[in-house]
Amino acid sequence: DVTHDVILYLEDITVTFNGFRALDRLTLYVGVGELRALIGPNGAGKTTLMDVVTGKTRPDSGTAYFGQTMDLTRMSEAEIARAGIGRKFQKPTVFEQHTVFENLELALRGDRRARRSLFARLDADARDRIADTLRLVRLGAEADRPAGLLSHGQKQWLEIGMLLAQDPQLLLLDEPVAGMTDDETERTAELVKSLAGQRSVVVVEHDMEFVEGLDCQVTVLDEGAVLAEGSLAAVQRDPRVVEVYLGR
Ligand code: ADP
Repeated sequence: DVTHDVILYLEDITVTFNGFRALDRLTLYVGVGELRALIGPNGAGKTTLMDVVTGKTRPDSGTAYFGQTMDLTRMSEAEIARAGIGRKFQKPTVFEQHTVFENLELALRGDRRARRSLFARLDADARDRIADTLRLVRLGAEADRPAGLLSHGQKQWLEIGMLLAQDPQLLLLDEPVAGMTDDETERTAELVKSLAGQRSVVVVEHDMEFVEGLDCQVTVLDEGAVLAEGSLAAVQRDPRVVEVYLGR
């Protein structure tokens, strides 16, 4: 039974924009606790796929399930987020004037606009959770600094931390290492690897050294469908993959 231990179940998903098929009967399964990298040339459909999973775009047809029971095609974006799918966009959007700790606190409270809630007391559980998250994203030493003073890489980690504060079962990361230094990229690979297992993670990324560092199954999209799946080394040897990257 293919649904056993599958957190994300997409079958025959088609999305059209004015007759153009951005996704063309795409089928993809992501396992519980799995880390998966999603690659493919520009226009392959990666963003559209993320948009379907988060409810931003409704597929024209196909099946999209989160876990065994949640039909993503019938849920609003807010319902999907509450159900446990967290998405990080490419550009970090942290509260620059607030400290790193406060950013995590706002995320934990679940309402990023409710800044007044910073004056309400956090219970011990919440404090522990923020402390754990700070350690996980390597920002323990920065807890009291305004987020605006962090490096670009640190802001990305903070945003990952803000997602984690809400305890998602599935985390979608859109080009997390874009603009990072080599050192930050390497640390991000370690961070992302450490997140899987407890939760499932799908990473869209163009940086192949980073993808190699993730050491996970790779799905290659092209023209709105899955072209190849396997280890990075295996898909890079696939002549069809070589052709879409080099031959056009
Ligand atoms: P990727 O993220 O892999 O670069 P996208 O999912 O952004 O690919 O886009 C897939 C295709 O769908 C592209 O050809 C793009 O131009 C088209 N597309 C995406 N969104 C829209 C939209 N809202 N309206 C029209 N075409 C779109």
